[in-house]
Amino acid sequence: MSWEWMIGLETHVELSTKTKIFCGCAAKFGGPPNTNCCPVCIGLPGTLPTLNRKAVRLAIIAGLALDCEIHCESEMARKNYVYPDLSKAYQITQAEKPLCENGSLRLESGKEIRIQRIHIEEDAGKLFHQGNDVLVDYNRGGVPLIEIVTQPDFRTAEEVREYLERLQVLMRWLKVSDCKMQEGSLRCDVNVSVRRPGDVPGVRTEIKNVNSISYIAKAIAYEANRQISLLEAGKTMEQETRRFDERTGITRPMRGKEDAQDYRYFPEPDLPPVWISPEEIESLRHALPELPEARTSRYQKRGMSRADAKAIVKFKAVSDYFDRATEGLSSLKAAANLMTGMVFSCFVNEQAKEACQLPISAEQLRELLQLAEAGEISLSLAKTALEKMLEQGVSVRQVLAPEDLQEIGEETLQAWCEAAVATLPKAAADVRAGKQKAMGALLGYVMKQSRGRAQASEVQSRLARIMAR
Ligand code: ZN
Ligand code: MN
Repeated sequence: MSWEWMIGLETHVELSTKTKIFCGCAAKFGGPPNTNCCPVCIGLPGTLPTLNRKAVRLAIIAGLALDCEIHCESEMARKNYVYPDLSKAYQITQAEKPLCENGSLRLESGKEIRIQRIHIEEDAGKLFHQGNDVLVDYNRGGVPLIEIVTQPDFRTAEEVREYLERLQVLMRWLKVSDCKMQEGSLRCDVNVSVRRPGDVPGVRTEIKNVNSISYIAKAIAYEANRQISLLEAGKTMEQETRRFDERTGITRPMRGKEDAQDYRYFPEPDLPPVWISPEEIESLRHALPELPEARTSRYQKRGMSRADAKAIVKFKAVSDYFDRATEGLSSLKAAANLMTGMVFSCFVNEQAKEACQLPISAEQLRELLQLAEAGEISLSLAKTALEKMLEQGVSVRQVLAPEDLQEIGEETLQAWCEAAVATLPKAAADVRAGKQKAMGALLGYVMKQSRGRAQASEVQSRLARIMAR
């Protein structure tokens, strides 16, 4: 009898604010250790936190995009634990009254992953283990986070991967976070349990802080299979927190069972309740940009494949560029082709893609696309031109010769076609004998004569007429 995997995620996303959540220190990544710190964020006695309103607004934007209810009143709470990455010995977070609840994110299959809650909290410092020493850097301490908690709705590691990728696209799109897993601005705790289909869920384990999507998939597969073999051997499962070892690909126990009561949560006495007026929530909702899913289907409706649409929509700057470049065009098909092929190959890395750094402007690309759509240049000439434009960072008029833009007269075109048949008698004979493949050579001849300007379909029908004579 089979087993069902049940997986839930707690995803920590660092918010893109300039300053930390309760003080004015810079919230940026990196910097010499312990330089972006002050008495508030390292928790010296007598200091008082002040809530960063920008962090609250970004959290609301995330909640709105994930279809959550946003609460006008929420409450900060103290989560008590002693660990060197937290100098106050408590983390200010939200417990009983989170900012957002009951959202969802839809996967490609149409399946909805339910989001139980999104709350705001402060990040902790970072520990470095060097031999027998432990070093601590508090630069990250106090950086604003949202924690996005799902229901245990995932059944496969693949669903988890897709959810995280979509979440990443969405949070970057809304400028809520840069979501760089390698820098820790998106981190995941994964809850895994297994059950016989229809049974109550089994005891779950939590895998802490796995820092890449592919490691998360590996950790889930390892952990689910470990639990299944334990249960099939008749053993009982412990509720525990485990760590994924990237080198060996296995999970190991880190610490025992942890429940909410262990943290002795209580309302944060140094901060008043968080109040957001319904008007402010509504104005944030109205200011939301067109979301990735909506834009993808808008592209599809205009004749683009879903794969191309998703590739362009992955980064907002790229998609905005594409929108400007295709303004007024009647079809997006050729444009999508050139964009995902030649233009994309100019991006040297993900950052270049994220910022959409390209040698030519959207307006320069549009000029080329308009010429192609109007039939003034052929698609193959457009490709040659685009190659030069991207190489030299210039406009289409600068790479095309004046005669490229002159219309090819009917007589000229007919003469080239006649010449093709006369010059390539073997190919012509083959076509006449029914070998359509041989048409390529004749077409190629005319395209070369026209330096790519002739329309392939027009040339083909002329050639066919000549050979039918
Ligand atoms: Zn500070
Ligand atoms: Mn948390």
